Amino acid sequence: MITAIYTGSFDPITLGHLNMIKRASRVFDKLIVCIMVNKDKKPLFTQEERLRQVRLVTQRFPNVEVDQSDLLVADYARLKGAKVVVRGLRAVSDYEKECQMALMNKRLYPELETFFLAASEKYMYLSSSAVKELAMFGADLSAFAPREIIGEIEAKYKQERTDTDHGKRDQ
Ligand code: ADP
Repeated sequence: MITAIYTGSFDPITLGHLNMIKRASRVFDKLIVCIMVNKDKKPLFTQEERLRQVRLVTQRFPNVEVDQSDLLVADYARLKGAKVVVRGLRAVSDYEKECQMALMNKRLYPELETFFLAASEKYMYLSSSAVKELAMFGADLSAFAPREIIGEIEAKYKQERTDTDHGKRDQ
């Protein structure tokens, strides 16, 4: 039985991530999607919100488990007995960062193999940041984010806009 892990910030999960999860879940016996704590980034959604969102949109995949961790990817994989980490490759821009990470993980946990899945053409240029930017301008998100969480993303920005307006008025 081969267990693979798919890690990321998922802030928020996009249709690009979901496409990767669907494809990887067909290849491996079990796929653990793990939301990693990234101390350098100030997330839009809390760790708990992201955990709930990822669980909600992946519940139809029986061999997908959702988890969260503040460990290094290599340590987390070892803990879970996973020898495969799945990563998505979009444009050339992902390549260098991803290779560096794969080599680092291999150094830390030599049995761990990184499997790169090519992003599907439809989602090649899709990222969580792009979704957030579109949401900020009130654009239609249906081609980019899972429908179950679109309302939540929109609500976050409506709330932020209201807070900013109040802030301006209070000055
Ligand atoms: P991080 O913030 O750690 O980069 P992300 O949540 O943005 O994490 O991405 C996690 C993984 O998903 C990475 O391997 C990334 O390349 C991949 N990924 C992100 N967006 C897409 C997409 N549109 N298509 C395919 N893979 C993607």
